[in-house]
Amino acid sequence: MFIEKQDSAVSDAIKNETKRQNKGLELIASENYVSKAVLEAMGSVFTNKYSEGYSHKRYYSGNEFVDIIEDLAIERAKQLFNAEHVNVQPYSGSPANQAVYIAFLNLGDKFMGMSLAMGGHLTHGHKVSVSGMHYNAIPYGVSKETETIDYDEIREIAQKEKPKLIVSGATAYPRKIDFKKLKEIADEIEAVSFADIAHIAGLCCTGFHENPVPFFDVVSTTTHKTLRGPRGAIIMCKEEHAQKIDKAVFPCLQGGPHDHINAAKAVAFGEALKPDFKKYAEQVIKNAKALGESLQDFDFRLVSGGTDNHLLLVDLTNKNIPGKEAETILDESGIYCNKNMIPFDTQSPFNPSGIRLGSPALTSRGFKEDEMKQVGEWINRVIENKSDESIRKKVKEEIKELCKNFVIY
Ligand SMILES: *Cc1c(COP(=O)(O)O)cnc(C)c1O
Repeated sequence: MFIEKQDSAVSDAIKNETKRQNKGLELIASENYVSKAVLEAMGSVFTNKYSEGYSHKRYYSGNEFVDIIEDLAIERAKQLFNAEHVNVQPYSGSPANQAVYIAFLNLGDKFMGMSLAMGGHLTHGHKVSVSGMHYNAIPYGVSKETETIDYDEIREIAQKEKPKLIVSGATAYPRKIDFKKLKEIADEIEAVSFADIAHIAGLCCTGFHENPVPFFDVVSTTTHKTLRGPRGAIIMCKEEHAQKIDKAVFPCLQGGPHDHINAAKAVAFGEALKPDFKKYAEQVIKNAKALGESLQDFDFRLVSGGTDNHLLLVDLTNKNIPGKEAETILDESGIYCNKNMIPFDTQSPFNPSGIRLGSPALTSRGFKEDEMKQVGEWINRVIENKSDESIRKKVKEEIKELCKNFVIY
């Protein structure tokens, strides 16, 4: 590799990160492993190009090949999600959501989104995010008894507050989302229906979860989570909103598109259109269920009692270990996950009561139900022996051994 000779500091970090990714268990629900083809596209000469504007309407010259990749990414995304219009230029999920708000709201306008504490995303109206600073965000959450979305409560709040837009979607929610019902609620008050499927896009485009794209006004998704593409995002919308969305992304919010990333988006969408990706998505769900059952056998409490998707929220209250400490000792054992608030958490966001675990990355590695059961056993052993450092070393070694059969790159 050229970088090895030129810059050993960066090169060593890349090598060590590759080792870390190979040797440990990636359970962060928003992460995944892209294919080598996607990696190659990201590392391609398209990073040199400036192509402000849209396909066949650019401000600079030399775009004949950029147009090919952007058109491909758009066409494939349309096919994948049955979309009327797609903008593939958003740099990431957060700016994509910002573009949606720019397109449909004026400063100070009211919109509704799921609160961060209940599983929503920062960009759904949290006060530290521009979405909560520039707009009047009204939060909704989950029911205390079932820990699932309370659609009746959403309807009640919507009728009372009359927001201009309702965001559906979450970042730490283990159940299916009833997009049809949320669309009905938005229609009743003539609000814009906006779905953010960042986490579940790979499950929606394969039919395992409801795909809101054909009937929602606008849908955003990251491309690097269950969709297994490069870091980035896309916005899909009805043809009638196409101009508004395109103008909001460029020139309102962004400058030149990241053409190397868009080339990688095209490659990833091509992969997602193949039958193998459907099998992958199905296995993601089976693996999350298998890990959940394994943990339940060890008396871990799962928020909402289980999962329908790629992630689990584990309430550690009965295990007498705070989320932060659990995250740290699991990390020391080669198991990567994140501390997470659980609904109605009595602790702070910096040291919440739970952890979030996801199956997308391990499924990409080739893990099946048997390996996921073993992962559950490891998590239990580390947590049950939280004061015993030797157990963490032992687990880390066992994980390294298993991972030798599941090499990524
Ligand atoms: C991850 C996520 C985002 C933000 O994506 P970034 O690429 O990190 O900016 C937005 N919405 C939801 C629901 C997410 O899960």
